[in-house]
Amino acid sequence: MDPLLQDDFATVLARNPGEDEFHQAVAEVLESLGPVVRKHAEYHEHSIIERLCEPERQLIFRVPWVDDQGRVRINRAFRVEFNSALGPYKGGLRFHPSVYLGIVKFLGFEQIFKNALTGLPIGGGKGGSDFDPKGRSEGEVMRFCQSLMTELYRHLGEYTDVPAGDIGVGQREIGYLFGQYKRITNRYESGVLTGKSIAHGGSQVRTEATGYGTVFFTEQMLAESGSTLSGRRVVVSGSGNVAIYAAQKAAELGAQVVACSDSSGYVVDEQGLDIALLRQVKEVDRTRISAYAEQRAGATFVAGGSVWDVPCEVALPCATQNELDGAAARTLADHGAIAVAEGANMPCTPDAVRLFHERGVLFAPGKAANAGGVATSALEMQQNASRDSWSFEHTEDRLREIMHGVHARCAAAADEYGAPGNYVAGANISSFLQVADAMLALGVV
Ligand code: GLU
Repeated sequence: MDPLLQDDFATVLARNPGEDEFHQAVAEVLESLGPVVRKHAEYHEHSIIERLCEPERQLIFRVPWVDDQGRVRINRAFRVEFNSALGPYKGGLRFHPSVYLGIVKFLGFEQIFKNALTGLPIGGGKGGSDFDPKGRSEGEVMRFCQSLMTELYRHLGEYTDVPAGDIGVGQREIGYLFGQYKRITNRYESGVLTGKSIAHGGSQVRTEATGYGTVFFTEQMLAESGSTLSGRRVVVSGSGNVAIYAAQKAAELGAQVVACSDSSGYVVDEQGLDIALLRQVKEVDRTRISAYAEQRAGATFVAGGSVWDVPCEVALPCATQNELDGAAARTLADHGAIAVAEGANMPCTPDAVRLFHERGVLFAPGKAANAGGVATSALEMQQNASRDSWSFEHTEDRLREIMHGVHARCAAAADEYGAPGNYVAGANISSFLQVADAMLALGVV
């Protein structure tokens, strides 16, 4: 890291003890910014980095609810309103037992830059709870969402803070959250949450957007080196919303998607994943990935282990943070991988990213490659604001256009700052410049 940035990083460590994922996300951005702060003294003079690393507002609150046995349960929830220089805070809510302030801050910090890269007017925020939806009944999930919103509503607004989903939060949860917001405020403020179902103001393609966008970005990245996805062997990790639609779009573009995973293990299906079956297992039955192999002739389930042991040319990590480490990266490179694009947020460890760069494997960081989800959320906000609804085709065209824009911004910044082909540097620099200039223009606020 450039010596000019080391004091700022030391401040982050001192102010946020024990928040390892947040430290990792900040370090990853600051490591790219040396040439930028050397060229533009004004960012340092106005303490832009220190300001950027300190959220504008951090909310932590208790969520009491009653389970099906009549027992009172208590969870902790968070909303970190990180940066509103470009627009209202925008970013998802994650429900997972691993959620604590450090996770929410890492995600919120990433979100600032990701949202800037889309070129759309949205600031960065993130939230969530340590609530574990696994094994919970519909009624329990609904009561939890209602209780969470009973506190959170006062901090939201279509011009203030607009949550969406993330791990553990999909259309069902967004519906319950929106219902409670509407009831408490007595306002049908559609644009206050995104990821809604089509039944009440959602956008076409929002469900598919993160996975599709990751594949559109991958396609662009491969095109730069004169290659395509068609005929390539692809492995995705995870089997949630991002993984399913990344696999679907990759297959549509002619790739052979041969494996996916969940926290219990992975499935290999050499004929190419059956997306309809995957959706049935994960979205309808909400069960383990092993059920896929039980219902599909020729597919095998491997309990435990790493999906990155399955040889492939293109790897799409779509599960969760730090799921692909240096050893897995080496295995992928040894097996001849040519490209890796992050569908999840920060799935590759710093060691893994270093190895990809050393071995000449094309690498797309999440804040660029998975920006399609939040970009389509911004399209949902546009439709809600104009009381309109667009067709699937039109919305997908807009998403493709936006992802091409994200790719072009990353490539241009990487070239300009002497790191051609380095999408990590390109994504960090391009988005930083945009947010930093907006912050300068707005004064010390
Ligand atoms: N949780 C998603 C992300 O990581 C989407 C956020 C949104 O749509 O606001 O970008």
